[in-house]
Amino acid sequence: MALIATQEDIQGLVDSLNFAEKVLRSVRLIHEAYQEFGDRLVVANSLGKDSMAVWHLAKRVSPHIKGFIVTTRFKPAETVEFMNRMVAQYPELRVFRNDEPIPDKLYATDPNRCCDILKVQPTRRAIEDMNVACWVTGLRSTEGRTRTDFQEVEERDKGLIKLNPILIWHEREIWQYLALYKVPVNPLYAKGYRSLGCAPCTRITTGPDERGGRWLGTSKCGGECGIHTRPLKVNYQI
Ligand code: SF4
Repeated sequence: MALIATQEDIQGLVDSLNFAEKVLRSVRLIHEAYQEFGDRLVVANSLGKDSMAVWHLAKRVSPHIKGFIVTTRFKPAETVEFMNRMVAQYPELRVFRNDEPIPDKLYATDPNRCCDILKVQPTRRAIEDMNVACWVTGLRSTEGRTRTDFQEVEERDKGLIKLNPILIWHEREIWQYLALYKVPVNPLYAKGYRSLGCAPCTRITTGPDERGGRWLGTSKCGGECGIHTRPLKVNYQI
């Protein structure tokens, strides 16, 4: 049966399924999508804890599944080192980056534009270059205020399926999975970060919002870089 976009009671699933049921559901979602899209299913790997869980789940479905990483000139050294280690281990992970000149400290004056140039545009290029029909993300509905309005299978861009296979997992269940399967994680988590991004825009916080340390002190605080909210299948320029 073809994988189709669905409207599910996401919060109901978050609350009612146990850890093992969620893992099984995630594997099934990726498996179904991989059967339908084959090599045109590609994992977006941000190198955060959620992406590493999704990457591991995808590899359980098939070792041949490919992925892409979008990086920027502002990633912390720990993230760059972790990225290099992951790419050496998984050569099927392609790295996309936009090195075009941008105004100094654009992240402070116009973070939306900065994210658009450094994150959204390379994501569009990855989708195009890798001929992606279904991209797989590490989105979770309990991460913060901007992540409650997603479905496990979506088609926000016509002709591009977005699969969010761990949408219903709690933060605790991510760590449970990573610990059980000994999945490597970015060393920044040991310093206290809960959500990782570019160095100038990411802080350690202790509040209830998992993404509260992102773009702290700006109107974008706890928000999104745009890859989950902006169109991806449009003409791009790099
Ligand atoms: S997270 Fe900050 S530095 Fe990174 S692209 Fe967005 S605004 Fe720029």
